Amino acid sequence: MPFFASRMRTAAGYGQKRPPVRAAPARMGDVLAEQIQVWENDPASSGLVSVDKPAIDQPPFQFSFPPPRPNPDSDTSTLNFRYWNAAAALTRGVQFWGPAVAPETDWFGGPILDVRLNVGVRWNAGYDRRALNFFRGQLAQGTFIYAAESPDLLSHELGHAMLDVAQRQLWHSANEEIAAFHESFGDVSAILCALQLESMRSSILASTSGNIYAASRLSRIAEQFGTALHSLFPADADCDCLRNAHNSFCYAPPASLNPSGPSSTLTAKPHSFSRVYTGAILEILAGMLAVHPVATPDQLRDITIELRDIMIEAVTQAPLVPQYYASVAAKMMLAAASKNPAYQAVFRSVFVRRLILSLESATAILTSVTPKDDTGFAGQDIEHSYTPKVGPIPSAHYGLDQPLYVELPADPAETIARSAARNGRSIEPLSVEDAARTFVDRLFINGLVDYGESEGKGRRNREPGDTFSPVQSTHRIERIDDRLMLRRTEIH
Ligand SMILES: [Zn+2]
Repeated sequence: MPFFASRMRTAAGYGQKRPPVRAAPARMGDVLAEQIQVWENDPASSGLVSVDKPAIDQPPFQFSFPPPRPNPDSDTSTLNFRYWNAAAALTRGVQFWGPAVAPETDWFGGPILDVRLNVGVRWNAGYDRRALNFFRGQLAQGTFIYAAESPDLLSHELGHAMLDVAQRQLWHSANEEIAAFHESFGDVSAILCALQLESMRSSILASTSGNIYAASRLSRIAEQFGTALHSLFPADADCDCLRNAHNSFCYAPPASLNPSGPSSTLTAKPHSFSRVYTGAILEILAGMLAVHPVATPDQLRDITIELRDIMIEAVTQAPLVPQYYASVAAKMMLAAASKNPAYQAVFRSVFVRRLILSLESATAILTSVTPKDDTGFAGQDIEHSYTPKVGPIPSAHYGLDQPLYVELPADPAETIARSAARNGRSIEPLSVEDAARTFVDRLFINGLVDYGESEGKGRRNREPGDTFSPVQSTHRIERIDDRLMLRRTEIH
């Protein structure tokens, strides 16, 4: 997620040390757990809380932090604080997502995922299948804001890594809706991981009177970075956060949207388009809670676990079709109904209202009894067996002299799930080839492709140590078996 800012605001959360809240008593048991202080939520919106000192180098899903390992410190301006703040947030994320992707215990790239807390000067963070990379942004006064200080950003990047474990076929897929879903999953990870702290659950329930679909420090993702960005470029972020899950964006085919634009509008950029799905998920979380008679912190925790399991089940089963939002929404609706019949109406109404599912396809999905229909109830037992198909797309307009091969989306016929037009009726999906070409066109339009091993005429390769360029590529052209292949290298 790109961030740009060059000066520090004097508003709360910027350059002002907040007094730590009184540390909670260390948990007593057979072993006295050492306590450390960390941000409860975003640095701009919360105080410190005490948590158990995490065991960061323990499997499953082991991390490797850069040595040396410092002593914990509650002074938020220190490297020591950032180190343990990041360790605590990431470990909390693993404890939340890990059981859902079991029996997997390794990251995509192996048992250890590197965590780089201070890669260089750039308003960004990312995941590249080997590491979580967090940069620092330089402010006009010569001070820095560290991406790794924000639990929201830590949990967002961790979400990318966990989704890559749960459904690795999303990574290279040439599909705008899949790229946007990956971003939404990251923001949902930020929301759900924040709610693993009891103090956060109590606070949000109190501030929203139990209706958590509200603008709150839970719905606001990365307040510190977003506010800084807005102060410099008002069109690029909300005034108080990077993205807000409390939003009213409805689905529109990404091919019909501008490739970029102000944050007040929906565009095809993955981070922008992700807000449709993230908004739906926060609404659904509130709806699931409302099904139960009392909104207690414990009930809210239990629902985050249920939603986690529903999402992971859905991503492992949903065909990777061009209308991926509808595809995964259909699987979520079915998984939710099997968990608690009362949830079905919650998921259906939110997805239909957001135009993620058409009226007729939502109905057909819930009434289908044909095992062959992978969106029907009977279809829940069918494992999604899609193997990515690689195919060429025209590439002369990219300055290439031979076809560019990409991982194509799955055939739209693999699911009856359809997204909706403004009248609620089904939209005919793009063909596999058109969806792939639209995705790749947008990458080139936004300057996100490293020409790598190609001889492209418009090539823009990243130089070693180039951390100041405002745009960081996400894809690279590689020569494989004498063909040019477009491969994702990282996600932000
Ligand atoms: Zn991201």
